Amino acid sequence: MKNINTIHDLAMFGAPPAFQNKLHVGRPNIGNRKNLNERLNNILDKKWLTNQGEYVQQLEKRIASYIGVKHCICICNGTIALEISIRALNLTGEVIIPSFTFIATAHALQWQGIKPVFCDIHKGGCNIDPALVEFCITPETSGIIGVHVWGAPCDYERLTAVANKHQIKLMFDAAHAFGCSYHNRKIGNHGHLEVFSFHATKVFNSFEGGAIVTNDDTLANKIRLMKNFGFSGHDNVVYIGSNGKMSEISAAMGLTNLESLDTFIQQNQIRYYHYKKLFEHIPGFKMMSLHEKQKSNFHYVTFEIDEKETGLNRDQIVNILHAENIIARRYFYPGCHRMEPYRTLYPNAGRLLPQTEHICKQVLVMPTGPSISKNDIDMIYKIVTFVVKHQHEIKLKMKNQ
Ligand SMILES: *Cc1c(COP(=O)(O)O)cnc(C)c1O
Repeated sequence: MKNINTIHDLAMFGAPPAFQNKLHVGRPNIGNRKNLNERLNNILDKKWLTNQGEYVQQLEKRIASYIGVKHCICICNGTIALEISIRALNLTGEVIIPSFTFIATAHALQWQGIKPVFCDIHKGGCNIDPALVEFCITPETSGIIGVHVWGAPCDYERLTAVANKHQIKLMFDAAHAFGCSYHNRKIGNHGHLEVFSFHATKVFNSFEGGAIVTNDDTLANKIRLMKNFGFSGHDNVVYIGSNGKMSEISAAMGLTNLESLDTFIQQNQIRYYHYKKLFEHIPGFKMMSLHEKQKSNFHYVTFEIDEKETGLNRDQIVNILHAENIIARRYFYPGCHRMEPYRTLYPNAGRLLPQTEHICKQVLVMPTGPSISKNDIDMIYKIVTFVVKHQHEIKLKMKNQ
């Protein structure tokens, strides 16, 4: 599209004024500063900065009990947590994943010489389609990694059935899903293990961080060794391992933010339903729906844009919103299979991913979280309503430029 990309463009049609400051997706949630500072001082006083310190141990216990899972192993970030998990499950050859995910899901496999096989997602949702997973299985397939996109649970039952039938491993990239539940059980209890990210942009952060959760004792032990170079006590290496340790400073942030997690989720929820109430009336802005048995962390306010109704496509709308300082985001665009090295390695992957290709062009994620006020959302609504209402004039102007 041509350049409707200055604040003055919409004003020219008589639009409400643009925001003075940028509204971002994924501003960090930060808990009680005093508690954090106390913990930081303790770390410095004790001079214990990392290596399974007191705060990492506390955080692991609290997360395990929060999720209702036997083992939680904190890791330095979600990507290394994925890599260690893949290794601990002995995945080799080919592993089936969605292409509609953050690139780390694919990279964690490729990095270890394992081929990610991209499987399409469900119609009417954004998660891997268990019926299609079956078609991706070959004699080389060793596992499936489901991703709970937007925190919406994968179809656990059917994925488990497929994995059992073919005797392959099943794990989940739950990076979006901390604090989410399904059938009143917290996400983190399915497959052989599940992986969280505690990156700054996630609902719960430890600056950088992540965790692997599992109910399998043997697997948990192995992961504990692997994240610490394979050390089993001083001077005794029993396994090939890496350095996946979480530092005490991250654990201090994690403990602090865990104390506020319910508040973050409540605040997200208020904003989510405010968006829903307003945007229900905007044609072509379909909010991604929640599963009835799901309890969300409401961290992602996600729309599917139907160009036939908005008159403008998703990218045009994103550009217009950016010009108004609403930094809405496309997500997982253009899909992992269209990024390197996968684009070159598997140039035809897209042919089997019609739903992924479709959704990649439609998804728009709006700013939310404690740093966005209900007033902000009212203003976003006004601007979007304006854009849809004036779509013809705006398009004409764009053509003439
Ligand atoms: C954020 C994210 C990751 C990576 O986690 P990091 O902690 O940033 O390494 C992996 N998968 C998904 C789906 C994510 O959203």
